[in-house]
Amino acid sequence: MASVSTAYTWNTPLKYLKGLGPRRAEILQKEANLATCGDLLEYYPRKYLDYTRVTPIAQALLEQEQVFRGRLGAFRVRISPKRNASILTTTLYDGTAWMELIWYHHWHWVQEQFTENQHVLVIGKPTYKGNTLQLSHPEILPLRSDTDIQKLLAVYPVYPLTEGLRKAGLTHKRFRMIFQELFQHAHFELNDPIPTAIRDRYNLMEVREAYRAMHLPTSLEEANQAARRFKFQEFFLLQVLLAQRKRLLKSEYTAPAFTQVGPLVEVFYHKHLPFALTEAQKRVIREIRRDMGQAVPMNRLIQGDVGSGKTIVALFAALIAVGNGYQVALMAPTEVLAEQHARAFRQWLAPMGIAVGLLTGGLPAAQRKRILTQLESGELPIIIGTHALFQENVRYARLGLTIIDEQHKFGVRQRALLWEKAHPHRPHNLLMTATPIPRTLALSLYGDVDVSIIDELPPGRQPIKTSVYAYHQRQQAWRLLAEELQKGRQAYIIYPLVEESEKLDLQAVEVGYQEIQKAFPHYKVGMIHGKMSSERKEHEMARFKSGQTQILVGTTVIEVGVDVPNATVLIVEHADRFGLSQLHQLRGRVGRGKHASYAIFIASRDLSEQAMERLRALQSYQDGFRISEIDLKLRGPGDFLGTKQSGLPEFRIADIVEDGEILRAAREAAFTLIEEDPHLQAHPALQTYLHHYIKQYGLEFFTT
Ligand code: ADP
Ligand code: MG
Repeated sequence: MASVSTAYTWNTPLKYLKGLGPRRAEILQKEANLATCGDLLEYYPRKYLDYTRVTPIAQALLEQEQVFRGRLGAFRVRISPKRNASILTTTLYDGTAWMELIWYHHWHWVQEQFTENQHVLVIGKPTYKGNTLQLSHPEILPLRSDTDIQKLLAVYPVYPLTEGLRKAGLTHKRFRMIFQELFQHAHFELNDPIPTAIRDRYNLMEVREAYRAMHLPTSLEEANQAARRFKFQEFFLLQVLLAQRKRLLKSEYTAPAFTQVGPLVEVFYHKHLPFALTEAQKRVIREIRRDMGQAVPMNRLIQGDVGSGKTIVALFAALIAVGNGYQVALMAPTEVLAEQHARAFRQWLAPMGIAVGLLTGGLPAAQRKRILTQLESGELPIIIGTHALFQENVRYARLGLTIIDEQHKFGVRQRALLWEKAHPHRPHNLLMTATPIPRTLALSLYGDVDVSIIDELPPGRQPIKTSVYAYHQRQQAWRLLAEELQKGRQAYIIYPLVEESEKLDLQAVEVGYQEIQKAFPHYKVGMIHGKMSSERKEHEMARFKSGQTQILVGTTVIEVGVDVPNATVLIVEHADRFGLSQLHQLRGRVGRGKHASYAIFIASRDLSEQAMERLRALQSYQDGFRISEIDLKLRGPGDFLGTKQSGLPEFRIADIVEDGEILRAAREAAFTLIEEDPHLQAHPALQTYLHHYIKQYGLEFFTT
């Protein structure tokens, strides 16, 4: 029996771990933020090296790490004149062939610990030097008996080693010894957060066994099983929270039930609808109608590619709420977009005498005050704005519906804020996005939301002809631009704007603006960027929209939702500085009318062929979902979403792109579990674990 003093618990500080020692413990703390034995257990290996097999030297593969076994030849030291240093060489012979082992520096230990004729294991990547097979700086292990081999031939986890860890001798061999010590004397109170029934059903390792298999695997297969279990666990915890939240929203909160569609929808549909709705639009409107007919708050996300016609769908939702005597707040991420929505809504609703207010940061105080009063009295049925809408002093008389456009720009936390404006009910909630989100990411990010997809464009749209040009091919873009202008069309030219180099970028816009003016003296050129006042921006947009300017040079403030059917050319400079999904969104600024449209992405000077290839995905695909998947793969979820505020906890071992299948299984398990046991009364271990998880990732907003 292990004595009490050598029993390690989850919280035992690492300095008490035998074989590690206080100095290395300190380095582990500093370099990898590991303080306790529990932390060490959760230190996931980056990959595994399968050293269970010895390769005969005659069958060695080049450039691949392999294990060899043989006897050492004589040691030779010689001076390399090129390096001005002494070099150690010896040979390894295993009966099939021989190879050279070579050390260029720090080799004294080799000479001290090994002798000619000694039986050893050697690990390294062979290369050819002339005709000689060579291993440089191999790992070398003495073999005294056959049991040695059994111990040494193993699957080694490879941990994310920093230079500091390496210097402290924390190699994978050392980690292996440490874990052997830890598991031999471990006294953990580990209750598995994944219920037994779920483990059985999905064939998952028990938690303690999984920790052992992860750090001391007997085979690669076992290591993979352990990894699968922890991936499942990561997804499962988040999905349990999402399932609980979805249930909470539906069971603890009430919304006004709009059992009748109301008079306004009928009037609009029959008298003022400017075009026939697509089947996809009709389907989504029906889904919204059904949701809003219930006394349970709707929480629905509409995903639809740029130009798929989400705005009119939002209008129908608004008409249901207003027709039932409630107010509607529509929030957009930028002023330009809020203004455009207001314009569209006013144009559609003016004939029906329904007022639409606009609330943005730049509003004069008097006007702002009037709007706030009208909202509080209930006089104003529809308000459209930026995040100004959820500021503290904004109060609503009867908020029945919130609509959030391009909602991924706001993040999960902010989704909740607008909600809290309604009383005594919660409002119905409609989210819209033109950035199609790959299914797996959507399940994590919006796992508590119902999703509708508009997968059909209004009739008559033509595919946008897309070209990717190297920097020196830009003249071709201008030639096309000239042709289109001649036909009476209009064009956008877009420059990237990223915060760190904002000044430089603005300069690029201004230089581009002058360049274009010079090159196209017979046309009027406008400019728009985020540093302008909202009146200036509004003015520039209006001039472009009415055709007073033919070319609009700007930054991504014209990114989302801007609608000018006569614009047929989009040129993006330094296209490589945008994500693919964003470029696809930008592309949606054209192709909104009946004319053929063109998107031209110009690469920065000297862009690598690989980066060019990435851009060419836009030539191959017009489907936003497809592009978003490629984009997510290339950039990972953090950059893909463009904000660390997305509210998504970090996955430490699971990969949202690669592990879609595990995610789906974990989601199914979590939702079934919450249906059966909403408060996890029969699962105290999971409860405790979730509690820590929420704290660790700051997910408290999930539970309110
Ligand atoms: P997005 O989904 O990108 O927000 P919009 O709602 O701005 O798209 O719609 C793009 C354009 O298509 C607008 O000019 C809109 O009036 C028009 N539109 C929307 N639905 C239809 C339809 N069913 N038939 C014809 N045009 C439509
Ligand atoms: Mg839109």
